[in-house]
Amino acid sequence: MKRGLLIIMSGPSGVGKGTVRLELVKDKMLDLFYSVSMTTRKPRPGEVDGSDYYFVSREEFDRQIANDNLLEWAEFVGNKYGTPRDKVEEKRSNGRNVLLEIEVNGTSQVLSKLKGDNDVVTIFLVPPSIEELESRIRGRSTETEEAIQKRLARCKEELKLKSQYEYVVVNDDLSRCVDEVRNIIYSRMSK
Ligand code: ADP
Ligand code: 5GP
Repeated sequence: MKRGLLIIMSGPSGVGKGTVRLELVKDKMLDLFYSVSMTTRKPRPGEVDGSDYYFVSREEFDRQIANDNLLEWAEFVGNKYGTPRDKVEEKRSNGRNVLLEIEVNGTSQVLSKLKGDNDVVTIFLVPPSIEELESRIRGRSTETEEAIQKRLARCKEELKLKSQYEYVVVNDDLSRCVDEVRNIIYSRMSK
């Protein structure tokens, strides 16, 4: 059986990664398995443990690092985020395409660990403008003003690292963006 792709999707906070992902997983042809990350961040209203994230304490997160259970991990605006290793491997060897929604430093770690794996696909979503990004973060109404400012500041650092991605896709119109990402994945599935 053909091993599944490992698709990494990144982009600044508020660009629309989660929204795009929810559209992609509806497409049964893509056969996507979304890898749920672990985080020390507190859940936002409506977020579900085990489905949006595994919400854990700092102590638990550090234990997972010490036990080498994370494929990668990084700090983002005061919290830790990481990818549990076990399911990624298991699903890919069962032929499923695994989707990671992670930030830029985590992507660097995966790329160096999986060097030479031609089935790793990296996609970076960008907003049509910084003003539009700010208006999306604000429109989501999930963050305090301080967290919004930190996320916008972090965005500049992230944009500097976008050259490590194979594909840069503008999330202007949602369905256009989803189509472009979908076509990228289809083309890599057929290689
Ligand atoms: P991320 O996961 O990258 O932090 P979200 O998916 O939570 O971002 O999207 C942030 C906000 O922007 C949400 O309110 C979402 O509905 C909105 N959004 C996402 N994509 C678009 C788009 N193409 N046009 C307008 N608004 C969008
Ligand atoms: P948020 O708090 O908005 O859910 O996520 C903040 C940032 O952390 C986003 O850029 C998101 O993609 C990233 N992120 C989520 N899960 C992981 C993960 O497992 N590893 C890494 N490195 N980043 C993650």
